[in-house]
Amino acid sequence: MDNKNDNTKAKIAWFTKYWYLMLFVVGVLAFIITIIAVGSNGEKVNNNVEPANANALTFYLPLTDATITKNYNDKALQYNATLNQWEVHKAIDFGVAAGADVCAVCSGKVVDIYNTYLDGTVVVIEHANNLKTKYASLDGELNVAIGDNVTGGQVIGRVANSAKGEASEGAHLHFEMLENDKKIDPSAYLNLENK
Ligand SMILES: [Zn+2]
Repeated sequence: MDNKNDNTKAKIAWFTKYWYLMLFVVGVLAFIITIIAVGSNGEKVNNNVEPANANALTFYLPLTDATITKNYNDKALQYNATLNQWEVHKAIDFGVAAGADVCAVCSGKVVDIYNTYLDGTVVVIEHANNLKTKYASLDGELNVAIGDNVTGGQVIGRVANSAKGEASEGAHLHFEMLENDKKIDPSAYLNLENK
């Protein structure tokens, strides 16, 4: 017997013994590749859907049955009878009876609560899309604390006459809206005709 013949016979013997093992390894590899392919495809689909959902914010009014006593105007000066001065009012004042419930206009997180002589008790809520809302002249007893997550329409506190800088207006909510920390006209987001 020559060596070549011996070699071939040894190869055939090896295949006869281990062919099922090789088939098993090929099967496992195909399975892993399929899982990876499906997984990455699923991620791509999610990435396409998420940004559209993040932009879809729903807005509510901070008060029901309120009257706008002072509107937003970033150019014309408006007279502040309390401080006896003309000033730019980058906010909307909602006149309403003291004790009326104030609601978060959109879902978000309470990022600040403070009290100053001019603004009274203030709650600041951060929303998606770099938006913030600020509720001033509130009663000191609030329904929320810093760090709380709130939903749109949720009661956060009550109207008072705590803003001494606008005391002559009586009980009212001084409401501000900020986009990228710059004050904007809230009517761009709120449907004020339904107030
Ligand atoms: Zn005001």
